[in-house]
Amino acid sequence: MNFPGSPSFPGSPGFPGAPGSPEGPADDAAPICSAKGCRAPAVWVLAWNNPKLHTPERRKTWLACDEHREHLSSFLGMRGFLKDVVELTEWERNSATDR
Ligand SMILES: [Zn+2]
Repeated sequence: MNFPGSPSFPGSPGFPGAPGSPEGPADDAAPICSAKGCRAPAVWVLAWNNPKLHTPERRKTWLACDEHREHLSSFLGMRGFLKDVVELTEWERNSATDR
């Protein structure tokens, strides 16, 4: 039995360079609005949950600037995902004490 000698792997798997994490919470930089293409500093936190994917107590968060808060919250609201809209400063205060 002769295996047709498998060629060595052509280097590393071809993942296009993805520097850093895609949506890592940057500690230093001001948080940015989650709306597509928007680079405005976030003012609001939209807490949401997709019951098909997440346990009820799980919270996903989107950040929104003043301009996109309505757009993003209605997007989530339409799907019944939206749980809470909180000012970023308040959100951070809560998550700081409540942990
Ligand atoms: Zn925005």
